[in-house]
Amino acid sequence: MSEDIEKRVDIEIGKRSRERRHKDSDLLETVEEVFDKPTILAIIELKNRGCLAELKGVVAAGKEARIYWAKNRNGGDLAVKIYLTSSAEFRKSIWKYIKGDPRYEWITSLPSHKLMSVWAKKEFSNLRKMYEAGVSVPKPFCVYRNVLVMEFIGSEGVRAPLLKEVVEMGKIDYEMAQKIFGIIIKNIYKMYWFAGLVHGDLSEYNVMIHNDNVYIIDVSQAVSLSHPNAHVFLYRDVMNIVKFFRDEIGLEQYSADKLFDYIVSKKVNELEKVLEE
Ligand code: ATP
Ligand code: MN
Repeated sequence: MSEDIEKRVDIEIGKRSRERRHKDSDLLETVEEVFDKPTILAIIELKNRGCLAELKGVVAAGKEARIYWAKNRNGGDLAVKIYLTSSAEFRKSIWKYIKGDPRYEWITSLPSHKLMSVWAKKEFSNLRKMYEAGVSVPKPFCVYRNVLVMEFIGSEGVRAPLLKEVVEMGKIDYEMAQKIFGIIIKNIYKMYWFAGLVHGDLSEYNVMIHNDNVYIIDVSQAVSLSHPNAHVFLYRDVMNIVKFFRDEIGLEQYSADKLFDYIVSKKVNELEKVLEE
């Protein structure tokens, strides 16, 4: 870390600890123990930009990122995804999505903190394209360095359950499952035709269910249709979803091959028909 950054962080932290009653103290108490200084600075910058007011607590700690529940200036809920480290394993795991994508091939040679920044920006840009295309994803608000601010899916600081979890808890019946299945496939279609993207890591772990709405999350690795493996990833996404609903719910009637064909050849009428049966 450059001395310059270090100095600025110390100043920020010093300023805020002298002003204990200042609202920022909450923010920093949460973050000081957990984050490195560039991350603290990034959070402060987002705060200065009016993107967030207060970090409340951890919602989930994944392998490379943590999700926090946060508040905006009006007291509304936010989700903040903070990319923290990039292990050798992470570099390896993202290579297949990057390789062949002319937009991103250069990034794996970056130093760790830069890689995480590009990755956060990539997730933000994918989220925005999807959101604008009408895909059901958390609405993206801001991104700065390795920190991404988006709509919180859940209520009162409690995240909504994943598709995997609602099924495990036995919370959905056959009919409901059919509905959710249809919504996911239609979202894959919209993603493909209106956002020009393939998710690439779609499964029961990256779908959230909230108030009868279905949200697709975790889109950092999504690839554009020009990626040489876009269709391999698309087939795998469709297959993951078909398999999950077949094995866990008993929805036997859907063929991944057919759905894949209807999606890529834009046979929207056939798709609707299959999904309504
Ligand atoms: P993985 O665990 O697959 O490595 P990741 O670190 O890439 O995941 P995400 O899948 O994006 O991160 O998010 C991790 C978890 O945080 C999700 O499983 C979900 O429970 C929760 N989460 C993600 N986005 C939101 C959101 N917008 N609102 C509420 N909770 C969220
Ligand atoms: Mn995930």
